[in-house]
Amino acid sequence: MKTLKISSPTSNSDRNFCQKCGRELTSDEIAITKKLINRGTSTYYCVDCLAEAFDVKREDIRAKIQYFKEIGCTLFSSVPPGQKMEL
Ligand SMILES: [Zn+2]
Repeated sequence: MKTLKISSPTSNSDRNFCQKCGRELTSDEIAITKKLINRGTSTYYCVDCLAEAFDVKREDIRAKIQYFKEIGCTLFSSVPPGQKMEL
């Protein structure tokens, strides 16, 4: 399947929105989505929708984000690709 790239006049290509509720996502939310769902996913969810999907509390998702940051997970830092260590 081909992915169509739609170029919009405003350069907001770095922005990602929750697939479910449409809220703009933080880089942490994108990272935790990758962590919880699939590293290669291009479908992201906000903390609230992730919590709902996994049937956990929002705090649990936030705690996970905090945990992965503390262990130095590269998805949660700004290490350029190529230097990342797989966990
Ligand atoms: Zn959402």
